[in-house]
Amino acid sequence: MTTKKKEPTLTFCGGAGVVTGACYLLETAHAKILVDCGMFQGSRFAEDLNSEPFLFDPKVIDALLVTHAHIDHTGRIAKLYHDGFRGVIYGTPPTLDFAKELLIDSEHVIATEAKHSGKEPFYTIKDVEGAFTLAKPTEYGKVVNISEDLFFRMQDAGHILGSSIIEIFITTPEGKQIKTVFTGDLGNSPAPLLGDTYEEKEADYIVIESAYGDRMHGQERERKDVFEDVIEETIAAGGVLMIPSFATERSQEILYELNELVENNRIPKVPVFIDSPLAIKITEIYKRHSSYYDDEAKRLLRSGDEIFNFPGLRFTPTVEESKHINDVPAPKIIMAGSGMSQGGRITYHERLYLSDPKNTLLIIGFQVRGSLGRRILDGEPMVRIHGSDVPVRARIVQISGYSAHADQQQLYNWLAPMRMKVKKVFIVQGEEEVAQTFGRVVMDQLAMQTVVPKLGEKFVLE
Ligand SMILES: [Zn+2]
Repeated sequence: MTTKKKEPTLTFCGGAGVVTGACYLLETAHAKILVDCGMFQGSRFAEDLNSEPFLFDPKVIDALLVTHAHIDHTGRIAKLYHDGFRGVIYGTPPTLDFAKELLIDSEHVIATEAKHSGKEPFYTIKDVEGAFTLAKPTEYGKVVNISEDLFFRMQDAGHILGSSIIEIFITTPEGKQIKTVFTGDLGNSPAPLLGDTYEEKEADYIVIESAYGDRMHGQERERKDVFEDVIEETIAAGGVLMIPSFATERSQEILYELNELVENNRIPKVPVFIDSPLAIKITEIYKRHSSYYDDEAKRLLRSGDEIFNFPGLRFTPTVEESKHINDVPAPKIIMAGSGMSQGGRITYHERLYLSDPKNTLLIIGFQVRGSLGRRILDGEPMVRIHGSDVPVRARIVQISGYSAHADQQQLYNWLAPMRMKVKKVFIVQGEEEVAQTFGRVVMDQLAMQTVVPKLGEKFVLE
């Protein structure tokens, strides 16, 4: 009797044709593993997908490899557990710590939304706790065996603290080794606090993100200089500077730069509020994992500078403290979540301050289509926040240099050294047109074969 040999396959169970919901299934003769298990975000339609069953049976998955803690890469981990997954969850120590905190934080939003729509929430706190009993911290560069035909290694992606590029090595039934590299999200190196993005030399297959695959960040001037100007101009006008920020995307880097600007007297001392309980917790996790900082930050730490502490800085974890920010006269700086102004405390500040031209809204992160942040950025003259129509008269400034994502040129440069050997480049985690545009650039200029996979599409790796 002959048994059919099982060729390795890769299935796109999320992150295909969209920025969010990253989830990739690799199957070999001896292992079934996932890379990332992210939440779909941005629109009602996208968010409804989170409650749908997975495109695979979670019970038979041996391991989940997590590239980094952002919710679009981790948001369905608790659901995976809820639906029967009992394998091992691998990630760097900061990734696992952040991910648990972010999932706990999102839980009440999900519970509230579920209540409104009369559906079951797609995970509960119990699922988060259960899931993280399966977690196994993994350092960069360490080889981890999953099965006799599959092992992996994580490398620094330079995107957020602890973020990884994951290299997966599979042995085919014919005894050939195939290397597949998942970029997760690639960083915008060099970035304050973070190590630089690891440069891969070769791979057979690459699964690359493309959030900024059609754009350049435009860093003609140092982003810190632009940041300094925006602060100075807003202070001079006697205004409020609002910075919507993801708790893990750039909040700590911005704090770190503010620390430097204030301590070197480059900007006037004004009150700076970190109005996000989550960002405060995440900052604590940063402090615990200082061994993952870049050399300069480590040097500053050693010299005795508390890099997340400077005159004027106030953390406002409670709602009561948050409300009192309002009583403090301008000029002042407020950082709050969410990063795309989809709910969170920033929306209370936006409702109060967006209508005044003295004020500035500084956008530093990616704004997904349909989000309030994206609509403001695209120039909507009037937005509805908590039931009020708010005219947008404040100055809207975007510093894309602060994006945690590589831009088109950086993605291209990262791919280029591997052009000779690569069989296929799968382009994911970008809006459909953006992924297509980036695919054409790579195909035309690097002569690499590119594919923009569809949700559920499966490929044989050979
Ligand atoms: Zn990310």
